Amino acid sequence: MLFLSTRGKTDLVCSAHAITRGMADDGGLFVPQKFVAVPLEDIIALHNLSYQERAVKIISLFLTDYSEEELADAAARAYDAAKFGSCPAPVVQVNDNTDALELWHGPTSAFKDMALQILPLLLTKAIAKTGEQQKIVILTATSGDTGKAALEGFADVDGTEIIVFYPESGVSDIQKQQMVTQAGKNVHVFAVKGNFDDAQTGVKQIFANAGLNEEIAAQGCTLSSANSINWGRLVPQIVYYFSAYSDAVAAGRIKAGDEINFAVPTGNFGDILAGYYAKMMGLPVHKFICASNSNNVLTDFINTGIYDKRREFKKTISPSMDILVSSNLERLLYSVTDEDSEKVTEWMQQLNTEGVYNVGEKIHKKITSAFFGAWVDEQETAETIRRVYNDSKYLLDPHTAVAWRACEKYRLVTSDDRYAVVVSTASPYKFSGSVYEAVKNGGEELQSFDALHKLHELTGVPVPEKMLQLENMPVLHKEVIEPGNMAEAVKNSI
Ligand SMILES: *Cc1c(COP(=O)(O)O)cnc(C)c1O
Repeated sequence: MLFLSTRGKTDLVCSAHAITRGMADDGGLFVPQKFVAVPLEDIIALHNLSYQERAVKIISLFLTDYSEEELADAAARAYDAAKFGSCPAPVVQVNDNTDALELWHGPTSAFKDMALQILPLLLTKAIAKTGEQQKIVILTATSGDTGKAALEGFADVDGTEIIVFYPESGVSDIQKQQMVTQAGKNVHVFAVKGNFDDAQTGVKQIFANAGLNEEIAAQGCTLSSANSINWGRLVPQIVYYFSAYSDAVAAGRIKAGDEINFAVPTGNFGDILAGYYAKMMGLPVHKFICASNSNNVLTDFINTGIYDKRREFKKTISPSMDILVSSNLERLLYSVTDEDSEKVTEWMQQLNTEGVYNVGEKIHKKITSAFFGAWVDEQETAETIRRVYNDSKYLLDPHTAVAWRACEKYRLVTSDDRYAVVVSTASPYKFSGSVYEAVKNGGEELQSFDALHKLHELTGVPVPEKMLQLENMPVLHKEVIEPGNMAEAVKNSI
């Protein structure tokens, strides 16, 4: 299996290359040449395998330059029971026609672990294949979840250093505590004065600074990123859509072959795109419900065919979906235009220069045949958390609540009440303050760990072990730097 760029200007490359490079040289994203069909019997049979084995079955269809043993080793280590418990991606029944696919049983209690636990292992194996001698230095600017998940994934992985920059006052207390307590001999964490954009801009400047990159190369290192456009992050996400379907059949929720719906809380469009790829491979899915918060650029796009980022950025209680440019959408456009890289390039250029593009009626129709877009405001999100808890005793985090409500809106508008799986992307305890306030319907505003304990007292829902330990862990990273000193920090870290 070879990979090409959505912009169509690069040669075909193997998966090891796509994973080490992250992004294609022409500015596009790597996509596989083709999607292998998985027969229904094989999908159903996944249920008899462990999650690790399911992962190998699906990932091996794409990463053909890795041996079965290599993938088995990566999957076994990534989704180890010590990290994810016995079941990394359980499907939990919430009401008669809706289940939650819980993707937050990993070390950081958010779904990014599903990809970021295995990516470092795929990456180090890829480096060995491409003959790279340099040490890989992963640079990440984070608004919260990604930074911690990358730290956990890369900590003590040989041949790598991991450097994370987070905005000093732009992450939640729990997210900050998760990062500043991270152990590992190759781990570096810096608070940056300013907001997420300052940190992100700083990282982009470091990547673009040719002189600095030469200096870094002279020290035997090469910079890389673990962001969500890397193919090595996308491919592990395809697995859990197949896995969930096989579990739903085994649990008697559906019959083999029935089409189901997935509702996905969406930011950068990685998670939901992985589901769409599963559908292209034959997974029986009727619709993907693309759920957004008040940053509803994707809802508008799915409803009109016009992507318009010229709007105010809003801070919400589902911060991992606060995004105006969903990078992975480029891969969907490539697919629905039957791989028309010229069109894709044109739209991406328009987005850059004018802030808007229009895909036209034909392509818009193709998109709405597989996707339904809905957005949910702050109040509805809180109401949904409260109502689902009261009705079903199931506690949603704010991101999952957005998807839950979007699924309800879809059912109201279309009368399509078929079985749906809501993709649950974070433990409610990761956002204890907002969730506690929602369940209590207002009242006192509590700080991080107080809210966590109160939420547990109120609901009795178990707190993830890792999150409990966090409160009393020693702070290992205290440095606060100016954005202008980020390059210096990188040089001193390697
Ligand atoms: C990253 C994230 C999302 C959005 O996923 P995308 O792949 O970026 O669309 C949703 N919920 C949580 C909790 C996340 O961390």
